[in-house]
Amino acid sequence: MIFNEEYETLPREALEALQLKRLKQVVQRVYHTVGFYRRAFDEAGVQPDDIRTLDDLRRLPFTAKQDLQANYPFGLFAVPMSSIVRLHASSGTTGRATVVGYTQRDIDTWSELMARCLVAAGLTKNDILHNAYAYGLFTGGLGIHYGAERMGASVIPMSGGNTKRQLMILQDFGPTALCCTPSYALNLAEEGKVLGIDMRALRLRVGIFGAEPWSEKMRAEIENALGITALNIYGLSEIMGPGVSMECQEGRNGMHIFEDHFLVETINPDTGEVLLPGEKGEMVFTTIMKEAFPLIRFRTRDISRLLLEPCRCGRTLLRMDRITGRSDDMLIIRGVNVFPSQIEAVLTGIEGLEPHYQLIVERTGNLDTLEIQVEVSERLFSNADEVKVLQNMERRIVNDIKEFLGISARVKLVEPKSLRRFEGKASRVQDRRQL
Ligand code: ADP
Ligand code: ZN
Repeated sequence: MIFNEEYETLPREALEALQLKRLKQVVQRVYHTVGFYRRAFDEAGVQPDDIRTLDDLRRLPFTAKQDLQANYPFGLFAVPMSSIVRLHASSGTTGRATVVGYTQRDIDTWSELMARCLVAAGLTKNDILHNAYAYGLFTGGLGIHYGAERMGASVIPMSGGNTKRQLMILQDFGPTALCCTPSYALNLAEEGKVLGIDMRALRLRVGIFGAEPWSEKMRAEIENALGITALNIYGLSEIMGPGVSMECQEGRNGMHIFEDHFLVETINPDTGEVLLPGEKGEMVFTTIMKEAFPLIRFRTRDISRLLLEPCRCGRTLLRMDRITGRSDDMLIIRGVNVFPSQIEAVLTGIEGLEPHYQLIVERTGNLDTLEIQVEVSERLFSNADEVKVLQNMERRIVNDIKEFLGISARVKLVEPKSLRRFEGKASRVQDRRQL
């Protein structure tokens, strides 16, 4: 089934004509309503009227996450606050947070695109959807929730955490579909098994998983453990939230991008050069329908490639492959986006620590773990005849990391000068996860 048959199966020429019309409009609009874009276009020597073909898109400057940070919190909004009906923010309360706003029409659009995703996964009004994405500032929970209501499934607004309760609801309410991160799906399966629940015998038949990288191996594990079809969904708060692209149950290979709303390019992350369709690189999106927070050529830092073969589902929308990496150092730990620089900012704010640290990320069972090793100062170290001093310090760091970044970490204080020093670019992260 296709939720919006007309727009999801447009012949390419019609789609491109629509894209061009919408692109011209959004470029005019941001130039006249967002100071940042007016300056950026002027600097790049390009005016809205210069956009005559879709290829002219590449004459426009990129927008980077740093531009959002520099205009924190609302500086890039293209409408007055009176037109905004919803705000979300991506993780990271210190410096790196990205704030996004929606008009009522944006919420309607998002709901429709999420409805398209759920229908692509084979859901109908008869399905019950267990939504274990976190509700709150994070876009996952509410994004999926509105999409489910839009297409008519019965949504259970579980949100994240409290696994035992989730397992009880999975048994008692008999949901047929599950939404969460892929690692949490495995975690649910694992905990269920421990409690003696036959997870394959639940009514679940399909899962929609995203917000963090995963692999075909994990897909097979999840499908096997839960007895379901597992599909990939992609999105990011800057562009909208979940629902930028979604796998269909017929294809199960690559996520259809809703190109009537988002223009996609693949670039070389080092040079910014636009690559040929199908070449692997950084995905760049331009929103052509968003009102409150339009983004021109937003660099996602996500590495993937476009899949050009037509899909058997009948959608004409291009697909993108799994995300295979990032062109920056962002980590996703239990679904939360974390930059090493954020951790560094917390550490350097604490007296008695040295700016030498190492981050070790692992996946134990199905849960991501983060260990922070950090050197203490000579002074603290020599005064620390009492173990208590060091223990208190560890506890303080754990609390601050939890409070500022929203993640749980293990902290290990180490002797001064014991961590590796770097001559070139420091590589402080060891990501040992094998997905
Ligand atoms: P979300 O709510 O989608 O997690 P965020 O803005 O917090 O939104 O995080 C977006 C980032 O999450 C993306 O840039 C990407 O790195 C990652 N992500 C989202 N979906 C997927 C997916 N299906 N596979 C891999 N990474 C994903
Ligand atoms: Zn398809």
